[in-house]
Amino acid sequence: MRVKFWGTRGSIPTPGKDTVRYGGNTPCVEVRLPHDELVIFDAGSGIRGLGDALMARGESVKAYLAISHPHWDHIQGFPFFKPVFISGNEFTIIGAESRGVTLRQMIASQMDKAYFPVQLNELKAKINFRPVKEETIRVFNAGLTSIFVNHPAFALGYRLSIAGRSLVYISDNEPFDREVARSLRNVDKGVVARFLEVRGDPNQRIFDFARGADVLIHDTTYTPEEYVNHVGWGHSHYLFSLKVADEAGVKQLVLFHHDQTHDDGKVDEIVQKCKKEIKTRGYRFECLAAAEGLELEW
Ligand SMILES: [Zn+2]
Repeated sequence: MRVKFWGTRGSIPTPGKDTVRYGGNTPCVEVRLPHDELVIFDAGSGIRGLGDALMARGESVKAYLAISHPHWDHIQGFPFFKPVFISGNEFTIIGAESRGVTLRQMIASQMDKAYFPVQLNELKAKINFRPVKEETIRVFNAGLTSIFVNHPAFALGYRLSIAGRSLVYISDNEPFDREVARSLRNVDKGVVARFLEVRGDPNQRIFDFARGADVLIHDTTYTPEEYVNHVGWGHSHYLFSLKVADEAGVKQLVLFHHDQTHDDGKVDEIVQKCKKEIKTRGYRFECLAAAEGLELEW
């Protein structure tokens, strides 16, 4: 399995000299299965660069695009993804539906005439939609499992497995706290119920989902100090990301969805703090921060 990061930033693109190393594009991760089959996680602004790279190869593209959720930072790059304008290409978009809004509507809405000059039904590529709940579906020869995580409205985490290798992608997820959950009004009730029915730590369902993964890409938007003022916003601080990686027994943790206010120096500082914490607590996994252009292979 191979992974390349095209967008690592949360919430809004943050271009500029202070974010060149870790990147300013919003989430997009390219995954290549053993025979080079393409699976993409999220269509943030980073997908524009991936699209250009695919166009440069000059081959027709058949790929799956798994969307975590339709907040802007995870879909805003889609209308600028050139391969969808080319006939002969085929994309299957995977994601959840909610409150009577179909997956197709979620993608089409941002291309409505009011917001964008080209509408979804004008794209030349074949676009299929595959709504999922919590289930495992087949993508090429791999299994793709989805789970609802803790994020306003809803968001999915994904686990991609093939030939004993696995990748878990959880772009947006907040530590679930039973007390806080009582006051939350912005998370899908069904999702809250799934967490509440877990005995003990409700985050156990996330730990179990990520169990033994080779690579875990996990939301690390905040420092613990910053998190205090952002409870209920749907994002994690690095101590929680480390806990998920440890409890799940993953081999490698990739810090992801960097906060819009964190420049490269701040992300460096977070990585150093994580490494110190890993040493102190005797955790046994590797840890690094997602950076635009970073490639991993295992
Ligand atoms: Zn996000």
